[in-house]
Amino acid sequence: MASSTDPIIIIGAGMAGLACATWLHRAGRPVLLLEAADAVGGRVRTDLTPDGFRLDRGFQILLNNYPEARRMFDYGALNLKSFRSGAVVRLANGQETTLENPLHAPLMAFAALASPIGTTKDKLLLGKLVAQLAGRAPEQLLARPGTTTLAYLRSFGWSEQIITNFFRPFFGGVYLDRELGTASNFFEFVFQQFAQGAATVPALGMQQLPEQLASRLPAGTIRLNTPVAAVAEGGRLVHLASGEALAAAAVVLATEGPAAARLLGADLPAPARPVARLTTCTYFATAGAAPSHGYNLLHLNARPGALVHNVAFPAETGAALAPAGQSLVSVSTHGEHGLTEDALTARLRAELAAWFGPVANMWRHLRTYRIEQALPIYGPGQPAQQELRLGDTLFRCGDWVSYPSLNAALGTGRQVAELIMS
Ligand SMILES: Cc1cc2nc3c(=O)[nH]c(=O)nc-3n(C[C@H](O)[C@H](O)[C@H](O)COP(=O)(O)OP(=O)(O)OC[C@H]3O[C@@H](n4cnc5c(N)ncnc54)[C@H](O)[C@@H]3O)c2cc1C
Repeated sequence: MASSTDPIIIIGAGMAGLACATWLHRAGRPVLLLEAADAVGGRVRTDLTPDGFRLDRGFQILLNNYPEARRMFDYGALNLKSFRSGAVVRLANGQETTLENPLHAPLMAFAALASPIGTTKDKLLLGKLVAQLAGRAPEQLLARPGTTTLAYLRSFGWSEQIITNFFRPFFGGVYLDRELGTASNFFEFVFQQFAQGAATVPALGMQQLPEQLASRLPAGTIRLNTPVAAVAEGGRLVHLASGEALAAAAVVLATEGPAAARLLGADLPAPARPVARLTTCTYFATAGAAPSHGYNLLHLNARPGALVHNVAFPAETGAALAPAGQSLVSVSTHGEHGLTEDALTARLRAELAAWFGPVANMWRHLRTYRIEQALPIYGPGQPAQQELRLGDTLFRCGDWVSYPSLNAALGTGRQVAELIMS
């Protein structure tokens, strides 16, 4: 039996659930967050290894211009460290080129470069899109009808050369989708965010983001290691896997999409197509500085058929992610590779040695993260936001009901809190 003092129960302490809890708590509403895992963060977790490396579970960055992140975080306390704007690109023909500020205006430095990344027209088009998106509100961009990113790029006039050498490795890395089938309204949003802000990581790793939100909630608000088995009575009752039952004023499903459906007892036939994208992140340790020492740019690989899709040296941003005298190499491989961890590591090592020289053979393998449900697939025609209210006392939030980004998780969490408060 529900009573007026029952809390609003939020299931899942990822970024969406934490954002929702934060806004409700600020409004003075009692909240209880139930999380199946042993820490907050969901897909934003950082592991501390016994030898002192901090490894994010998958290469991930915070674009510091995200409107929802700016609303939510104390950036100073996070001690954000930035990657330099730009990228080193290994072109399809094996040549390497460095792009300084490819998305920032003015683009004169980039356009003047005799860079083989694309044609002169391509470089001018980059400037044109930066200017075109400059005055637009992010929500306005996301609400626009979309096609695939690839169709959008072609219709904007970019050559196949720059699509192969820049857009596939760069945005393919953001989407985990080198085919660029992701919706173009999301492309415009991400392009604008890269053009206007910086790619950052908190000094102690990405998990500092959820930890900061969790630290602002009263003690006892979050119950870890508490998987929920079912939600009943339209959001007035929650059954834990332990057998305990909790009464709720309302329930917010802040889990991944398939988990939310299971909690509601929905029969789940195997989906005809995958609903999420897979990525694998392999970490190596360097003895001494990493190859990008002093310039900390992302490294993108445009070579077709490669397993190394992008390489980052996150400790070179100044983040405290590696013990003194060592550095960290983060290698991302998107999609199914069909290899065992050992075979993948050996193949990556060979590709890295061909790229960075024999020093890569000395890098020590630290850990490999295979993340099956890394990002929900967001194709053309999908709404930028699905219905967040499922009933009078039942709501949902998370990137699964919106688009694949931290901004979406935080934003839907806030909007559900506003719906409940209204
Ligand atoms: C490798 C990788 C790279 C990424 N890169 C970026 C990036 O650079 N920039 C960006 O903006 N976004 C990036 N993202 C996406 C971003 O991390 C997600 O959009 C965001 O974290 C989703 O948050 P969420 O709260 O919606 O879901 P989740 O983080 O999935 O949280 C759901 C929570 O629900 C819990 N849960 C599930 N079932 C139950 C249950 N039955 N009972 C209790 N709890 C349950 C889960 O344990 C989890 O903690 C990346 C994601 C990955 C994995």
